[in-house]
Amino acid sequence: MDEKLFSIIDSLEQNRRLSFEELTWLVSHRSVEGAMLLAKKAAAVRDSIYGRDVFVRGLIEFSNICKNDCLYCGIRKSQTACQRYRLTEPQIMLCCQQGYALGFRTFVLQSGEDGWFTDERLCQIVSHIKTEYPDCAITLSVGERSRESYQKLFDAGADRYLLRHETATKSHYEKIHPKEMSFDHRMQCIQDLRDIGYDVGIGMMVGAPYQTPEDLARDLLFIEDFRPEMCGIGPFIPAAGTPFAHFPAGTLEETLYLLSIIRLLVPDVLLPATTALGTIDPLGREKGMQAGANVVMPNLSPVQVRKKYMLYDNKICTGEESAQCRNCLDLRMDKIGYTIVSDRGDIRREKSHV
Ligand code: SF4
Repeated sequence: MDEKLFSIIDSLEQNRRLSFEELTWLVSHRSVEGAMLLAKKAAAVRDSIYGRDVFVRGLIEFSNICKNDCLYCGIRKSQTACQRYRLTEPQIMLCCQQGYALGFRTFVLQSGEDGWFTDERLCQIVSHIKTEYPDCAITLSVGERSRESYQKLFDAGADRYLLRHETATKSHYEKIHPKEMSFDHRMQCIQDLRDIGYDVGIGMMVGAPYQTPEDLARDLLFIEDFRPEMCGIGPFIPAAGTPFAHFPAGTLEETLYLLSIIRLLVPDVLLPATTALGTIDPLGREKGMQAGANVVMPNLSPVQVRKKYMLYDNKICTGEESAQCRNCLDLRMDKIGYTIVSDRGDIRREKSHV
């Protein structure tokens, strides 16, 4: 094994920190050997905190209407081919009811930035779910809002918030978003969420158009400094009809490699093996677990709307009922020696970092 690679991985394992230069080197010198060593160490660290338990989140995609035009996104506002929908509160409650019966104890409410869902409407839904299912956690993934709005949603009962930072490099952010969107505002939103007291999830796409190894190193540094409770990374997958439709997809190998590095940087982070990972490889989610992930997020949305939430092409699990998805994942995890547990799946903070 390359001496330098070995010493950087060793330092990562011991110190849980690497410099920008070391991270850039690690990202640009990916090898099969290095990936295997990182995955082994990442899985061992994950096992020491979470064992082989896999936390499951029930994803409810309740609106695909969005005012934004992110260049990579299959439901961006300029996407005329996209059939738009919004779920009603009773439909969302039905998803929760089915999810609860299947053992889900976390619901992730995800949508585009849809102005119809005012604070009042969204708070009503959050508190309704909390009243019916007080033993469940609610994660919101509804984009950029004001600090006041985040506070109201938190007060209504939301526990966690996913807002991928997308890229920690301002110039890169500007290449993949329209000029109306602001890197600084996104970062401010992430800080507001943390300050309010949410468990915060950040993350980026791997292999996004124009992404360089230095950009990825800055993403990893940001993750290292911010120490998120959750970190969602998945490969970039092009979506037909978007300006990035013809860019190549990110790779399974690079995503797995980064998952392992993130597990070693932030040992207690909740790390999903994303649906995007399962889309680029039939065993992508299983491989994600073996690289250090510990969360899966199957879909609880009604089957009739799933194909309409096409963030990227060929998204998997759009045809099955929720129970089928859950059974399928149970079997997949069982096959590789992991067990999906019925649990809120809160972060188990390592004592030295509490
Ligand atoms: S990535 Fe999110 S904010 Fe951007 S267009 Fe898609 S749904 Fe809207």
